[in-house]
Amino acid sequence: MAADLMDGKAIAEAIRAELKSEVDSLRERGVVPGLGVILVGDNPASCSYVTAKERACESIGIYSDDNRLPADTSEADLLKRVEAMNQDPQIDGILVQLPLPKHMDESKILLAIDPAKDVDGFHPMNVGKMMIGEETFFPCTPHGVVQMLMRSGVETSGKHVVVVGRSNIVGKPVANMLLQKKAGANATVTLCHTGTEDLAGFTQQADILIVASGWPNTVTESMVKPGAVVVDVGVNRVEDATKKSGYRLVGDVDFEGVSRVASKLTPVPGGVGPMTITMLLYNTVESAKARLMEEG
Ligand code: NAP
Repeated sequence: MAADLMDGKAIAEAIRAELKSEVDSLRERGVVPGLGVILVGDNPASCSYVTAKERACESIGIYSDDNRLPADTSEADLLKRVEAMNQDPQIDGILVQLPLPKHMDESKILLAIDPAKDVDGFHPMNVGKMMIGEETFFPCTPHGVVQMLMRSGVETSGKHVVVVGRSNIVGKPVANMLLQKKAGANATVTLCHTGTEDLAGFTQQADILIVASGWPNTVTESMVKPGAVVVDVGVNRVEDATKKSGYRLVGDVDFEGVSRVASKLTPVPGGVGPMTITMLLYNTVESAKARLMEEG
């Protein structure tokens, strides 16, 4: 048996097309959705993420306000920049690219973002709303996973979802979203981490297995129940002398082995990755729609 691939790129493109028509209609009504982007320092991975996010905005007509600040920017100056964006009526969403330099307190900066513009979904108020099942900005990667399952026709209600990883940006929120009593969720959820004894004993029980551990091959063929749906959130660089760059990207799952037993599987790259940026666009468009409602 070879697993069907869940094509994150194609699903993301379909969502972006829907968002583009929403942006077109917002623009016709005088609202240009705006995303304020702040990058402190020149970490190469962060620079490329920010560039990709800005290009994605541009591709569907969202205006992005690019703020690239030197690594020695003070925390006070960054807070002022965030506050200016909080007050700016043209800015619907604020994205502070993480990680921040060590001299800054990340949680203080995230707390300073107006929750109504928190399109990354990291503000504790929005995390709390998600937890109690209210509508809010959902964090982009977990939201991308949930959308991918829904749009791939994967039933979650009544299924056993096992999540490997309990980070605040992937594992905990995806587990939380999938246990809510609503469409596209309503699953029985088990959350595993490095303190879990007998990881395979849990993963083998999963109807839907979501892996976000940060290590290649955390999940191998024998750890997966035949017919399970497997979502690989991981992105890891491994050396590969056959590539010009000297490396290739792999997920947290042994793709070849697991594709022999799973019924559906996400590739890396081209799985969850394209969904993440798309959900950032989605949140920004939702925020702009709220602005239009407020402006009446
Ligand atoms: P993280 O902060 O490093 O968290 C990893 C989690 O996995 C931790 O909770 C850790 O447990 C758990 N873990 C690690 N090894 C394990 C093992 N052998 N067995 C069970 N649990 C294990 O990572 P993250 O930020 O959540 O990211 C996870 C992966 O997703 C990474 O590969 C990252 O690159 C990728 N990612 C992709 C996207 C995307 O857009 N595609 C976005 C974000 C992240 P403890 O808590 O006990 O340490």
